[in-house]
Amino acid sequence: PQLANQIAAGEVVERPASVVKELVENSLDAGATKIEIDIEKGGSKLIRIRDNGSGIAKEELTLALSRHATSKVHSLDDLEAILSFGFRGEALASVSSVSRLTLTSRTEKQSEAWQAFAEGSQMAVKIVPAAHPQGSTIEVADIFFNTPARRRFLKSDKTEFTHIDEWLKRIALARTEIQFVLSHNGKVVRKYRAANTEIQLQQRIAQVCGKSFAEQALTVACEHDGLSLSGYIQSPNDPVQTDTHYFYVNGRLVRDRLVNHAVKQAFNEFGYQLTPNFVLKLDLDPHQVDVNVHPAKHEVRFHQARYIHDYILQALQSVLAQITQ
Ligand code: ADP
Ligand code: MG
Repeated sequence: PQLANQIAAGEVVERPASVVKELVENSLDAGATKIEIDIEKGGSKLIRIRDNGSGIAKEELTLALSRHATSKVHSLDDLEAILSFGFRGEALASVSSVSRLTLTSRTEKQSEAWQAFAEGSQMAVKIVPAAHPQGSTIEVADIFFNTPARRRFLKSDKTEFTHIDEWLKRIALARTEIQFVLSHNGKVVRKYRAANTEIQLQQRIAQVCGKSFAEQALTVACEHDGLSLSGYIQSPNDPVQTDTHYFYVNGRLVRDRLVNHAVKQAFNEFGYQLTPNFVLKLDLDPHQVDVNVHPAKHEVRFHQARYIHDYILQALQSVLAQITQ
């Protein structure tokens, strides 16, 4: 099983940013509203994620670290209609197989917290009492310490940290109601406060996409036929190009040519040559879309691609029509 874990780790754990992704998604799945991410040396020394989510019960700590142990999939239909981020049940097992992992957690019911420690091949987990408020802290130290070839593939601390920062931007835009704090070597680098008002939302968008975009972007809000498209597109009057292209499908950031094409076409039809920046969220019946289950890819396949394309196109056309009048 250890070898299997390490092979799986190759798929899940490419670099520190992929560990941050898996752990933060777990925190979100656990209902956390505050998530702290502390990074040391680009994540090669330490990645620590602290959340105020549901926590993991003492008797489930060992299970959480074992392969294919997930608390999230209960039927095949769940799998098909997956909305929750995590469902493979191998992230923690994979991460612990290539690092020294400490998991400290307390559920609402427990009066004290418990801590489990797993190190590389020493999957025998020791559980000791600990001090911790409700929620979980997961520390991943010395990533790839036992797979030196992979450790050598890590880039500079700065580059690895940038990957983490960029990934967090995407999630910060998708989950505006969550507070995220990102630190590097003991210094707070980003603080995204929970955004519950229009002004706070604009602040968060300014933090990620720049002030000019946040102040001038056109609002997209279109709901029809079980489909919803919402978000912002750059105003044609805003000259600042920042290469901000975020497209979320059911809360998941995806790369899709369809949306790029629809956005460009809408702008071209109104005589604008720029490829605008955008932050757009499409929500639809999960049965209408296949999400590639490969953890590192961000691809989707719409069952009715043409229809979705035209839906986006028309939504943007009507937004542009309003300002051109
Ligand atoms: P998956 O997320 O695919 O279920 P993981 O290996 O990422 O698999 O996590 C295993 C299990 O550990 C989860 O199903 C969940 O029950 C538990 N878990 C992991 N992280 C947290 C967390 N931050 N808070 C609460 N439970 C967690
Ligand atoms: Mg997970």
